[in-house]
Amino acid sequence: MDIDPDEIVTVELDTYDWERSYSRLLTRRQLGELLLHFDDMADQTEATYEEGAQHNQRAELVAAGRCPNCRWPDYQCNCAEHPDA
Ligand SMILES: [Zn+2]
Repeated sequence: MDIDPDEIVTVELDTYDWERSYSRLLTRRQLGELLLHFDDMADQTEATYEEGAQHNQRAELVAAGRCPNCRWPDYQCNCAEHPDA
């Protein structure tokens, strides 16, 4: 059985803090494009999250008096690439 790309479907988004769900009519073709877009956005979200986690880890090491590159105490560090030097 073929799927008609122009068939209209209901897309509904909801989160726990919305008063009501967000629902729209789309064609199956548009739904496919939307899902690809969601995938891209999810990849970006993951990259942003990892960037943030890395940044926090570096800040914690610096606050603890350690080199964020080699993690050794500052006075024992021989890194050429010292962000604060
Ligand atoms: Zn170092």
